Amino acid sequence: MPTAFLDRDGVINRKAPEGSYITRPPEFQLLPGAADGIRKLKEHGWRLIVVTNQRGVALGRMSADDLSAIHAKMRRELKDLDADVDGVYACPHDKGICCCRKPETGLFHQARRDWPEIDFLDSVVIGDSLSDMAAATRLGCQKIWIGHDAASIDDAADQLLRASSAP
Ligand SMILES: [Mg+2]
Ligand SMILES: [Zn+2]
Repeated sequence: MPTAFLDRDGVINRKAPEGSYITRPPEFQLLPGAADGIRKLKEHGWRLIVVTNQRGVALGRMSADDLSAIHAKMRRELKDLDADVDGVYACPHDKGICCCRKPETGLFHQARRDWPEIDFLDSVVIGDSLSDMAAATRLGCQKIWIGHDAASIDDAADQLLRASSAP
């Protein structure tokens, strides 16, 4: 089973303005095509894992409970659209102090501890930031850069499913 690692802000949900953060559930809004793409990949047997940097926790803009409430809302909204994800891994730390803030790869390794069958060489990282792409390179994952290679998760899913059904 292939795995798609999804960044959150700017990929699944609308990004907060530069320098600010999604800190409360009402600020979380799904992007067009996010649920459709997740559902398509799920229907084709993909494992879907969210990996997200949430430095706003370290900066005191939100608590760990706020972050959990935001992720509960995300999963509820996706589930309502038949597009639930398998896991959510977040780095709450400030820059430069941990091994999980992307482009570090700790979140991906945490996921593989929970799903030992994850093979990074059979995985794709879908993200909108250079840090997502850099983490993918370190892990040997395929990468799809939202805003460059694809417009949305839906577009990325179409590319992946087309590639996997090619002779
Ligand atoms: Mg992002
Ligand atoms: Zn971290």
